[in-house]
Amino acid sequence: MVNTIINKLNESQMEAVRHIEGPCMVLAGPGSGKTRVITYRIENMVLNNNINPRRILAVSFTKASSIEMKNRALSLNNDPRMAKVTYGTFHSLFFRILRYFGGYSSESILDEKSKRIAIKGIMKGLNVENGEDDEIVNQVINEISYVKNELMDNIDFTSEILTKDEFTKVYNLYEEYKGQINKIDFDDMLIKTYYLLQNNKTVLDAVRKAYKYILVDEFQDINKAQFEVLKLISNPENNIFVVGDEDQSIYGFRGARPDFLLEFQTYFKGAKKIVLDINYRSKSEIIDTANRLIEKNTNRHEKVIKCTQGEGGSVNYISPHDSEEEAVFIGKEILEEIKKDYVEYSDFAVIYRTNIQSRALVDVFMDMRIPFIVKDSVITIYDHWTSQDILAYLRIGMNLKSNKDWARIINKPFRYISRENINMVKDEEDFINALINKCDLHPKQIKTINDLEIDLSYLKTLNPKNAISYIRTSLDYDRYILDYCANRKIKTNGIIEILNELESSASNFTTIDEYLSHIDRVKAELSENKKSTHSDGVIFTTMHSSKGLEFKNVYIIGVNEGTVPHEKSYYVEDEKIKNDQIEEERRLFYVGITRAQERLCISSTLNKYGKKVQKSTFIDDIKRPTEKELNSIVIGDKIYHKKFKIGEIIEKNGQKIKVKFKDKEVELDFATCVLSGLVNKI
Ligand code: ATP
Ligand code: MG
Repeated sequence: MVNTIINKLNESQMEAVRHIEGPCMVLAGPGSGKTRVITYRIENMVLNNNINPRRILAVSFTKASSIEMKNRALSLNNDPRMAKVTYGTFHSLFFRILRYFGGYSSESILDEKSKRIAIKGIMKGLNVENGEDDEIVNQVINEISYVKNELMDNIDFTSEILTKDEFTKVYNLYEEYKGQINKIDFDDMLIKTYYLLQNNKTVLDAVRKAYKYILVDEFQDINKAQFEVLKLISNPENNIFVVGDEDQSIYGFRGARPDFLLEFQTYFKGAKKIVLDINYRSKSEIIDTANRLIEKNTNRHEKVIKCTQGEGGSVNYISPHDSEEEAVFIGKEILEEIKKDYVEYSDFAVIYRTNIQSRALVDVFMDMRIPFIVKDSVITIYDHWTSQDILAYLRIGMNLKSNKDWARIINKPFRYISRENINMVKDEEDFINALINKCDLHPKQIKTINDLEIDLSYLKTLNPKNAISYIRTSLDYDRYILDYCANRKIKTNGIIEILNELESSASNFTTIDEYLSHIDRVKAELSENKKSTHSDGVIFTTMHSSKGLEFKNVYIIGVNEGTVPHEKSYYVEDEKIKNDQIEEERRLFYVGITRAQERLCISSTLNKYGKKVQKSTFIDDIKRPTEKELNSIVIGDKIYHKKFKIGEIIEKNGQKIKVKFKDKEVELDFATCVLSGLVNKI
């Protein structure tokens, strides 16, 4: 046995690592060494059992967690054989199969942007109502994606925005189009791989030969199509080893179902099941906090987690005035900590629910000159089409001859200028002049344009925040957006939030010019950020992308009702679905909390966009009981004890209580039990 393995694993982990042939499933909570087991198992197979590393496939769900898995495996042992294993995401695996066996190349991929253009064009061609509308196109793209990931026939699918006939037509024409240009999109990779393997025995045999041992991290996030592909490849030897945690299942919206964890044992008969119950990542206080939260979910199996990292660690809760103050607080604290030895910027992570929340962080950290690395794709609020409209207004305000911008906003809100007229003059040197002089406009239209010119020349006199507010209210841009959404039956919240965030991003600048050049600077910084992968920096990540990672210090920001849990889980009318969604939101927050090793800071702002906001209801789930609460128990109260379950207080003497459980009576020190997380009052 290779030296590194001895003494570095507990007994159950060792059992998992030593399991070589046949199916095996490891079920365990965060920080219990699931990913570690995968990497040590690879080492054990390659170095102790002489298994050809090229026959080993190690996949994970997200790019970040597959990179984490690969880096950990390579740093475990620098034997060159470790690098010959295939590490990757499901998509990279599918693409590999298609490239070797399906005759595809990187030229064959239709990127997401071209896909959008194609689908938009098809909808326009079919005269689908509002078919050119970005929001509608987005929804159709998601629906097509869902159909594919579920391996459904499009005929069996009911679209929420298109008629059955329209959806089928769009779907089929899009397929035809890709066939003509000989390209496939990301979802097709999955489907094509599945059907290629299913229908072509020679290819299937070749892939089975290529990957004799399969390891899957984050198995709880697998969807139907991915699972089917895995079943095909791993048969008949079924050397498939999966690790997962149903409490971290957070991709329900893409068809991931924790049920597949259960189905694993039904499908792979005789699969070995190993449970890990020791947490090696986090200090006790952090584990307690995480447990208090996840216990509130009903759709789960209770797990016992023992802590090895010792007592303590710290969990702080702060409530700054707003997101700017929140970012400044975090920035200052990090700078203080960095002064100490052995601390690097990358020991800190700031985690949030939605990408939009990184806006204030990026601004403040750039200002404070703190290096940072943004984990997710860096589409900024400035790229959203509504922001583009507002920025077009601002640019016109600074330079009235900005033709492209005029053409963009002249009918937002509707000012009765026809598309023909706009197209006729959009390339003229002076858009407005040409519009008035070359087009046959009604005097009323001319007056509208003249008034608008005057209004826009006023923008120059305002600071950028007030200018944006002026565009939204006095120039009726918000009304235009509300009408726009109402006509298309789209929820307004998301769009209004972008506009609010944009307005708030402008508040630190005195002139529009300053603000516009700041935006250019942010965009340049973020595109640079994407390229540099190795430098040290504070990690900014969404909860989704933080999965599988760990950091000494974690900040979770914007833990406010409507953000965590996200308000979209409230929109649902069906109570059961709504409850499932809230539980998924709780799991997301749980994933965030369990990334912390030593220090965790949870922040709920008091205000958002100038309005008071509530802290998240999840905060109540995790907060420690106050003195008052500790003293509030009376005889007859019900409590929940982790070991003895539900009981009733039958005697009380200060904090000492006697509790009657189902089949025994127990004396407890209530305060100690509550503080250690053993007991909750219910
Ligand atoms: P998650 O569910 O969040 O992905 P995980 O179960 O994959 O967590 P790991 O990331 O593998 O957990 O392990 C958490 C941390 O504990 C890592 O730093 C890992 O190296 C360490 N660790 C795991 N097992 C042991 C062990 N037996 N001895 C020492 N350290 C360990
Ligand atoms: Mg892991």
